[in-house]
Amino acid sequence: MGIFGGNKIPGAGQQSVDDLVKQAQAMQAQAMQQMADVQQVSETSGAATGSMTWARQVMNLIAPAEPGFVKRCACAVCGAPKKLPSVTAYVYCDYCGSLVDYDLRRACESDVPTDPQYANTVNGAQPQLQAAQASGDQVAYLEIQKQIYNSYVTYVPSAVSHRAKNDVRYRNKLVDYLAQSATVDAFDAGSVQLTNEMRQRAIGLRYTGAMLSPTVEPDSFWPMVDTLQKQITYLGELHKSAGVTELDPDQADQLGPKFAWSMFCQGWLGMLPADAADALLDQSGLKNSYISIDTAGGTERSCGGCGGHFTALPGATVMVCEDCGRQLDVGAAEIPCTNCGATITFPVGADSTACPYCKVTLDKVGIR
Ligand SMILES: [Zn+2]
Ligand SMILES: [Zn+2]
Ligand SMILES: [Zn+2]
Repeated sequence: MGIFGGNKIPGAGQQSVDDLVKQAQAMQAQAMQQMADVQQVSETSGAATGSMTWARQVMNLIAPAEPGFVKRCACAVCGAPKKLPSVTAYVYCDYCGSLVDYDLRRACESDVPTDPQYANTVNGAQPQLQAAQASGDQVAYLEIQKQIYNSYVTYVPSAVSHRAKNDVRYRNKLVDYLAQSATVDAFDAGSVQLTNEMRQRAIGLRYTGAMLSPTVEPDSFWPMVDTLQKQITYLGELHKSAGVTELDPDQADQLGPKFAWSMFCQGWLGMLPADAADALLDQSGLKNSYISIDTAGGTERSCGGCGGHFTALPGATVMVCEDCGRQLDVGAAEIPCTNCGATITFPVGADSTACPYCKVTLDKVGIR
């Protein structure tokens, strides 16, 4: 194991994380409604500025990702430090293609409002989900969750790894993993208890400021962070013992806590005073530091899936294309197109592929 080996915490996958976001958003809506109920209409007249979004809050607090720099991190599988540019929040190893890290700053840059199609799927499924949970029907619950996460991957693509864009196998495994995690959580008494505890903490929040731009009082907020820490530890163990952790298509259980913290921060950062937001980011370990991109000794290659150009470092075996998300077999030499002469790197596991430039089908075995 690499540098993450020492503090490896299993599980707490993206599902539980996604639940936390939905939870946080629902709680916010509820809290706003409560405030709307108690406040006089006249008080709202000066509140036109609106609250700071979580993305802007993060941008103000985290060092900027300038061109020519990449998040400082190292691979938990092969130990290699990250050297090449990453375009999305999902940072993959330059040498073995493993998921290495999650860059919150990049996530902010791709922050988009939730697609109504996804919101409709989630909202429309609530009665069925509740019925399945009440009757103890885990099979039905799992099927509904699969529909929800299919919609998630389709309509909120920026929230999941770019590997889901063109790799159908990865995409299906991701949907299954997220749905299985959600189901395990929903039918475990300890997990349900922690969800209820989180809800109680949210109800206990105190707000200041105008109705349309409320600020959470930090003293009422920190107990919620304590509950989150309990959830991360508990769900990590639960997912491991229930066999869910091993379903993660990225096999990156060491990143579970980071995803959980990140989603929690996305839900609440925008409602905290600046100093409390800073303290939360500190505690969550999400503050980034960046290092210069280093392509020394690299070879220029072309992706056999999308035709995008990239640099492969000496000794690399697998890389994930930053453009199309396909895993590429950089351990093998590039293959020349018999039609147009371009040389391309084959996707991992592909015996044949269409040349991204001239569309002629190329056979890997035949050429070797
Ligand atoms: Zn690696
Ligand atoms: Zn590509
Ligand atoms: Zn060609």
